[in-house]
Amino acid sequence: MLEIAHFTLGIVETNTFLIADSLTKDAVVIDPADEGNTIVAEAQRRGWHIGSIWLTHAHFDHLAGAGAVADRVNPPPPVAMHAEDYPLWRMQGGAPFFGLHIDPGPEPTIELRHGQLLHLGGYSIEVRHAPGHTRGHVVFYCAGEGVAFCGDVIFRGSIGRTDLPGGDYQTLINSIQKQILSLPEDTRLLCGHGPETSVGRERIHNPYLA
Ligand SMILES: [Zn+2]
Ligand SMILES: [Zn+2]
Repeated sequence: MLEIAHFTLGIVETNTFLIADSLTKDAVVIDPADEGNTIVAEAQRRGWHIGSIWLTHAHFDHLAGAGAVADRVNPPPPVAMHAEDYPLWRMQGGAPFFGLHIDPGPEPTIELRHGQLLHLGGYSIEVRHAPGHTRGHVVFYCAGEGVAFCGDVIFRGSIGRTDLPGGDYQTLINSIQKQILSLPEDTRLLCGHGPETSVGRERIHNPYLA
């Protein structure tokens, strides 16, 4: 079973997902938003080993906990990200734009590409490039479990903002159509902020997709 531990962390209440193959105990952290100590403590409590950190995108509120996770896990888990978000990562994920300073954590060393399959224990997880909120935003889709980790592409009843550097409204709408709404209707969408939703629910109720 793919187990999912969920946290809401940081100043803009970002969702962090610690996911694991319960059989092998292999785990990854998707978007360590803040409080890396809390994330690592939960992994230890469950007997899971964090092998990597996967970023949906490089905004500071999705990675401010990466350094603290890496400091507490041996060996430090490598960070995976799409190359088109590297300039944003280099700018501390835009934190200075909001008058903040963060530690972006270890340099990303795994370059994510559209269509790539990532492995977690016995699970395969597909990388889907979904630009528009940022240029290098990706969605992590586990077909076997019917779940997608969407970051800031789509929310329950809303979509990601497109007014920050690298954002583009029409590009985001196209990404949602191609990379989210093309998934099976009952696919769970675990969003970067707010509650989870599903493909079917957003197709009907999301006012931006009418
Ligand atoms: Zn964002
Ligand atoms: Zn966010």
